[in-house]
Amino acid sequence: MPRHRKTKRIRPRVEKCIHCIWQDATTRDHVVSRAFFTTQPENHLTAPCCAECNRGFSSDEEYVRDLFCMSAGHFYKHPVALELAHGAVARSLIRNPKLTLRFAESAKQATLRGPGGILLPNQTQIDGDVNRIQNVMRKITRGLVYCYAKTRVPTNYRIEVDFGLPPQEFYNWAQIISQASRFGKQVYPQEVFAFTGAWNKDDPAESVWLFSFYKRFTVLAVTAKPKATVMVFADTKTGKPVAELSLAAQPSNAALTEG
Ligand SMILES: [Zn+2]
Repeated sequence: MPRHRKTKRIRPRVEKCIHCIWQDATTRDHVVSRAFFTTQPENHLTAPCCAECNRGFSSDEEYVRDLFCMSAGHFYKHPVALELAHGAVARSLIRNPKLTLRFAESAKQATLRGPGGILLPNQTQIDGDVNRIQNVMRKITRGLVYCYAKTRVPTNYRIEVDFGLPPQEFYNWAQIISQASRFGKQVYPQEVFAFTGAWNKDDPAESVWLFSFYKRFTVLAVTAKPKATVMVFADTKTGKPVAELSLAAQPSNAALTEG
C-alpha cells in the first residue's frame, strides 16, 4: 500500500506580532493585561507580540487600570478594583507624581449613575485620556480577534472604539451580538473583565466586540475594512442578518463615567 502523505500546512518559523504585523513576535502578550487583576485567571488569553509593541502598551495599560480602579473601587465598590486602588494603583501614583497631578486636574464635580442606576449628584469624575484608553481597547480587540476569530486585523483596517455606553445601548448590543456570536459571553473571575463578540463569516477580521471592566466600564469595539460604511452580522443558526452597523459617523466618545 503506497504511503499516503498528509498535506501539512507550512507555518512560518517565527510568528509575526499581531499589532504591527511585520516584526517577529518575541513574546506571548496578555490580551487583557495582568495589571487589571489581583488574582491572575488561569485561562489568560495571550497573543504573539513583538518587544517594541509590548513595551508600548504597558504604560497605557497601567494608566487605564489606574483610571478605572479609582472610580470602580471607591465609587462602585468593586472588590478587585478597590483592592488595586489601595495597592498597585496607589503605588503607581506615588511613582508618577505628574500622572497624579493630571488626574487631579481633570477631576470635576458631576452627576453620576451609581450602582442600581440611581443618579448621584456632586460626585468626582476624572476625565481620562481618550487616546490612551483607545490604544488599550484596540490592543485588546486585536488580541480577541486573533484568539477567537483566528485571524489578524490588517493594519489598514479601522478599529473604532466607543466607551461609556449608556446601559440600554450596552444591553441592546449584548442582545444583537449574542445572536451573531459563535462563543457567547466570557467572564473572568469576579467580572474583572467580561466580553462577547461576533465576526463576519466572509471576513473574520471584520468584527464587533463588547467588553466590560469591573462590571462598570463598557466598551464597544468594531474592526472593519478601511472604507467600510456598513457591516452586517448574521445569526449563526439561521444565517439571517441580525445587525447592521453603520460606520459612517465618527465614534462619539462619551465620558467614561457617564451612564
Ligand atoms: Zn509589534
